[in-house]
Order: sequence, then C-alpha cells, then structure tokens
Amino acid sequence: MEKNIRVRFAPSPTGHLHIGGARTALFNYLFARKYSGTFILRIEDTDELRSTQESVKWIFESMAWLGLNWDEGAMPDGSQKGDFGPYVQSVREANGIYREYAKKLVDEGKAYYCYCTAEELDEMRKKAALEKRPPKYDGRCRHLTDEQRSRFEKEGRKPVIRFRMPDEGITSWKDLIHKELSFENKLLYDFIMIKASGYPTYNFACVIDDYLMKISHVIRGDDHISNTPLQINLYKAFGWQMPEFAHLSMILGPDGSRLSKRHGATSVQEYRKEGFLPETIKNYLALLGWSTQDSQQIFEKGELEDKFSLEGCQKNPATFDPVKLKWMNGEYLRKLDKKTMLEFAMPYLRESGLDLSYPRVPLEDLVYLEYEKYKVLSEIPALLSFFFKENVDFDSQAVESVFSKPSASKVLSGIADVYSSIDNFKESEIEAATRKFAKDNGLKNGEVFHPVRVAVSGKAQGPTLFKMIEYLGKDCAVKRIRAAFELAAAKK
Ligand code: GLU
Repeated sequence: MEKNIRVRFAPSPTGHLHIGGARTALFNYLFARKYSGTFILRIEDTDELRSTQESVKWIFESMAWLGLNWDEGAMPDGSQKGDFGPYVQSVREANGIYREYAKKLVDEGKAYYCYCTAEELDEMRKKAALEKRPPKYDGRCRHLTDEQRSRFEKEGRKPVIRFRMPDEGITSWKDLIHKELSFENKLLYDFIMIKASGYPTYNFACVIDDYLMKISHVIRGDDHISNTPLQINLYKAFGWQMPEFAHLSMILGPDGSRLSKRHGATSVQEYRKEGFLPETIKNYLALLGWSTQDSQQIFEKGELEDKFSLEGCQKNPATFDPVKLKWMNGEYLRKLDKKTMLEFAMPYLRESGLDLSYPRVPLEDLVYLEYEKYKVLSEIPALLSFFFKENVDFDSQAVESVFSKPSASKVLSGIADVYSSIDNFKESEIEAATRKFAKDNGLKNGEVFHPVRVAVSGKAQGPTLFKMIEYLGKDCAVKRIRAAFELAAAKK
C-alpha cells in the first residue's frame, strides 16, 4: 500500500460495544497493523439524547480487553493521543469546527437554512406517500429570501442547515469489498448537516472529521452504505479527496435475521462475563466476513495481524454461530497452562460463593482436572462445586438411575471398606483396588464405577473418576460413599 494508512473506529456511545461494532473495530485495527498504519478511536457523541459517558467507558473497557490498542484518539483518562484531535465530537462541536465548515457551504450556496417545522415535514412525507414519491424533503427552503428568513426567525423558528444535494446525476464509488456501487442523485435527499440544536448530524461530522484526521480508508458496517453517497457529495462540495470505502458484511443470527438481542448476548461485555477469552472473541470476530484462502480457523498470536486483508472480506452476510464460538473458546482454554487457567477461573470461583479454603488440594489442580471439557469459564464453579463442600448435592436423575440398580448398595458398602484400607490413597491405587473389587465380585466395571461416581460427586458425569477421588481424599470419599449407601439401601 503506497498511502499513509490511517483508519478509525468511530463508535456512537449509546450502549455497550456490540459484536458488530467490535468486529468493525477489529478489522480497522488489523488493517492498520498489517500495513503499519495508524488506528484511531474517535467518539461520535453527536446524538445528545442517547450518548452517555458510561457508554464511552464501556467502549474503552471492551477495546482494551480485546487488545485493540489504538494509536491515536480519545483516552480513558480523558486525555487524547495524537495530533489530529480533539477526538470526541462533542468537544469538536464546542470548538466550533462543524459550524465553521457548515457556514462555508452555506456561503457558497451548497447548503442552506431550513425552517420547516416537524408538522410541516410530516405533512410533506404524507403527501409524498400519497403521490407515491420517495418521502424525501422537497427542498422548499432552498431559495428563501432574506425577508422569509427573518419572518421565520421572528416566529421563533430554529433553523437546521441542509445540504443542497444535486438533483441529477449519479454518485458512485468503488467499494473495496462491494466493488462498484452507485446511487442516482434524485433518490438522495437534502440531508441535515447541522441540527436546530446547533449539533452536527452523523453524516456531516463524520466527513469533516475523516477529512481533518486524514483518514485514508473508511472501514465500517454495510448498514452505512446508504450514508456513503451523502458523504461523497459532501467531499465533492468541499472539493476534498475522498477516502477509500470498505463496507463490511452484515452479521446475521443463526436464524438468518440480522443479529440482535433476540439472539442472546450481543455485547462484548456479556461474552466476557460468560467466560470467553479475549483471544477467542478476537479470533471469532475476525472470521465474521473475512477468511483466508484455506479457511484457517484458529490463529496464533500475531497471525491475524499478519494475514488480514480487505481482499479476503466477503460482501455476503456472515452468520454468528454461538456453538462455533463456544467450540473455539474450548480450543483456547485448552491452550492455557495450569496457572493461567486458574487465574482466569478465579473471578468465577470467587463470585460463586463456594468455600475456596475447603479443598485439600491446590485450586489450580482442581481447576485443571477438567480443563479439556470447559467451553466457558463461568461453568467451572458448578462443575467442580462438590470439591468445595462437606455434603454432596445429589442430582436426582443420577440417583434414580444409578442407585436403584440392585447391585448399588452392595457396591457402595463394599467399596467404602476397600477404600478405607488403601494406604497410599492415589489415583493408580484407587483404580487398581476398584477394578479388583469389580472382578472379585463378578461385576462389570461400569456397575462399580457409576455408583461410586454418583456417591462422591452427586453427578453421573464429571472429572476422571480416580483422580477425582484422590483429590477428595480418603476420609471424604469414604464418608460420602457410606452416606450414599444409606440412600441406595433406602431405595431397595
Ligand atoms: N458512529 C457511527 C456508528 O457508530 C460510525 C459510522 C462510521 O464508521 O462512519 O455507526
């Protein structure tokens, strides 16, 4: 790439960072890294009613968690990094940047004051609908005389500034993902640049900022495709060179409709809470609308930054698949060493309220016991809870199906004695003694293993049996098996 690559992620802080926004941030970040460019974070808070400081904080947190470090932009401590700031649109507005550029277009006759009231606009829309015309602004304020203007002002009407869209011709661009896109100008409309409140609209502020921040590539979701011709006409009106545009494919839920709350968790924060690793989310998001030639699924550290390209982006919608995401998280969890796995699991264990001082073996051994089965970190406490308390919470179905077998109580009383007499209470000894017990009593291994498992853990499934018993310790295991014997005996 010959140009000085400068890309931006420009979220509107009106809630948590969602999967779609995070994907846009990631693709911009990867593109910048790949071409040694600059990745900028700009806060687009021109929606005065919906923007919140809290949302800005959430965006910072989610980006930091995903490791999407930006080179320039608004910083969490309220400062800014880079020479093209401010990077927060409300601050830029306060500095008068947008008004200055809007005035320039008004002076050149390329924009105009519009005094239409909400009621008038509503009527206009209804009329257009009746006449089967697109419901766009009819341009009635394009040529107001000074006299008309001052009359409106006297009436107390607050004007907006509208862009004078060309009536004829075509606006087109070569999108880096969608290829040639074009819109007939007659279908575009005189959009509002500056609202009656004095605040700029998204389309206006975005162009001014992309230009002043020397953005080389605008990479954003394809829900913005219809905004792009409006923005291109602004570039033309100012006589500015426009950036390249790349519109990322839409993200659909598993049912084929646009990904939304209906499909479950949609914010990065929710996935974080559920116990997904940031590497998983980053890897998974990268594959939403992008792939390598050989459809690589799992990427080592730094590999995405190396392999990403806009050429590998598809324009067809991508489907968000929660099952694949969980599978991928399992893959990433399996790569963790014991110590790191415990670090990740710790917040979930603490939050679970379990007595973490109860187990007699180090927590990292306990947590690592089932590491191959985990899909998300939040499921760890429930899977291991029987290690953390005196009594077993029995799964009623497991009790029903396993303890009602005629051999169950015999197995439990016998095995309790066997275990009591093991001196070196270690996995291999426990296993050997259990198998010998089965053989001596003419039982199948399963007929012994199943009731023992339910007796010590309360569940029909869990960690590898003999390691689990070793970790529980002789006293605890024997006590639990004897208690379970009572239960099984009562079932007879
Ligand atoms: N603030 C816009 C949004 O969050 C940014 C769109 C753009 O990247 O131009 O959708």
